[in-house]
Amino acid sequence: MHNTHMTSRSKPDDMPARRPEPVADALGRPLHDLRISLLDQCNFRCPYCMPEAEFHSDYEFLKRQQRLTYDEIVRVAAGASALGVSKLRLTGGEPLLDKNICELIERIAVLPGVKDLALTTNGMLLSPLAEKLVVAGLDRVTVSLDSIDKDIFRGMSGGRGNVDQVLAGIKAAGAAGLGPIKINVVVQKGVNDHTILDLLEYFRGTGTIVRMIEFMDVGNRNGWRMDQVVSSRSSLQQIQKRWPLRPIGRSYPGEVARRYEYVDGGGEIGFISSVTEPFCGDCSRARLSADGMLYTCLFANQGTDLREPLRGGADDDELRDILSSTWLQRADRYSELRRPDIAEHHVLKKVEMYRIGG
Ligand code: SF4
Repeated sequence: MHNTHMTSRSKPDDMPARRPEPVADALGRPLHDLRISLLDQCNFRCPYCMPEAEFHSDYEFLKRQQRLTYDEIVRVAAGASALGVSKLRLTGGEPLLDKNICELIERIAVLPGVKDLALTTNGMLLSPLAEKLVVAGLDRVTVSLDSIDKDIFRGMSGGRGNVDQVLAGIKAAGAAGLGPIKINVVVQKGVNDHTILDLLEYFRGTGTIVRMIEFMDVGNRNGWRMDQVVSSRSSLQQIQKRWPLRPIGRSYPGEVARRYEYVDGGGEIGFISSVTEPFCGDCSRARLSADGMLYTCLFANQGTDLREPLRGGADDDELRDILSSTWLQRADRYSELRRPDIAEHHVLKKVEMYRIGG
């Protein structure tokens, strides 16, 4: 994906274009995307991710020295792009809490092989930063917005979200050229499912792409039960009653969303159905936590420590070997194997979502 607007994505002369050596995992899936969590802190307290009761004001988040430095993040990103990664996504916690994020974006946007640099945010801090993010080299943003109903949104963000501020941030990002903007909506039965049509109505005809995400048993704290899940099929049926839709193809292999467009030209929407229509078959994503753990699945219960070799003197070849051997052994397909009756008991201790970003 090439930026339509002017950015600083010219490769410095001293960075030789090294041909990537793509790696495939044990199920033949290439490593294509790397999600990079910049910090474990967030300005929201969404009950399904960071419940206030546990993540209270005295909660000890990662200290600065426990988090990877920008130099270390750039080395991992460079190693990953040398193995075929062309899509990087910055996430958190809330990545825009990182005051120097534009400096990091400038450095990773110019890495050879990086074609798509995106960021996932809750949108509260987006307005004043949108232009700066573009100039630094960011291509796109995805905003997590579970409802445009003020009270429901406030409730789903742990009493901290202001929906008008988020909508203003989305507008500013659009004006700055950070599009097409995607909106991620985690649909929960009896929580926000009755407000989905209003949210879709708000974004119809704006070019912004709303994706309905099935509520998942990520981490260990959201009390997930199958009866809270609204299947994408039933959301689709609900929407079809209001606006006829037709399916459109995937824009690239491994794309998680099932894409549809309004027959009347109102734009595109999507469904991410990890529970009822799992898509592990071509999952090409790895996740790096802020303290340097590499996870090969959103539902992983263990990761590979990269911080130790990074601080232990490993050179770029050694780092790349660790990345490739980790991926080569990968056989994750949690969603395909998920047994809701077991998952509801939260027996398996999985990595927390706030540590790796969804
Ligand atoms: S469950 Fe794991 S392997 Fe399957 S799609 Fe999600 S992240 Fe990929």
